[in-house]
Amino acid sequence: MTYLFEPPPPPSLAVTGHDARFPVHRIYCVGRNFVEHAREMGAEVAAEAPVFFCKPADAIVPGGGEVPYPPGTADLHHEVELVVALGTDAPAGELDRAAAQALVFGYTVGLDLTRRDLQAEAKARRLPWDVAKAFDHSAPIGELLPVAQAGPLGLRYLWLQVNGVLRQNAPLDEMVHDVPAVIVALSRLFALRAGDLVFMGTPAGVAALARGDRFHAGIDGWCELQGSIASG
Ligand code: MN
Repeated sequence: MTYLFEPPPPPSLAVTGHDARFPVHRIYCVGRNFVEHAREMGAEVAAEAPVFFCKPADAIVPGGGEVPYPPGTADLHHEVELVVALGTDAPAGELDRAAAQALVFGYTVGLDLTRRDLQAEAKARRLPWDVAKAFDHSAPIGELLPVAQAGPLGLRYLWLQVNGVLRQNAPLDEMVHDVPAVIVALSRLFALRAGDLVFMGTPAGVAALARGDRFHAGIDGWCELQGSIASG
């Protein structure tokens, strides 16, 4: 096989306790998965089925660090989220909850960075969300913790500090659609693949990130992510 030009290497994440990296295939994101966040956005939670959108795989910023302030917005927002990484393929179709959970390779924390002004405009004009959600460097993400080391999700808190001040903090059992439910719903729509990531939605407290702001996110006992928005 020859190509007209050199294809880029796959985007990938470091894995706790492994030398090999996790190659990212697709990024699915869940919207409106916490009641209080849906409320602060003036929306209803989708109780019957999760709301999905996507980001390109190369939107990840592995390990955090310095994230450029994106062009085209004056209102960049943080959304801290549990990220689920799939390690097994599943053809599109019906999965039961146990089979869905068995696809999970590991967990980490990530930011679903959002151009909130462009999202508000898209909502008002009933247009797609891509320019608000799927931009370059829109998914800073931590090191993956394999399920074998992670154990059950339990009553863990998902949190985000900006410049040392707590902005978002919620127990993960407040998710409207839990991890197996989201994977079951995705599998009805897409052939899931090893390498897929699922951003599970954000709790209340979303707000602006300005140039120079430092972020520090985590899931208690599991993982952390640190970085900053470039000042330039
Ligand atoms: Mn989100």
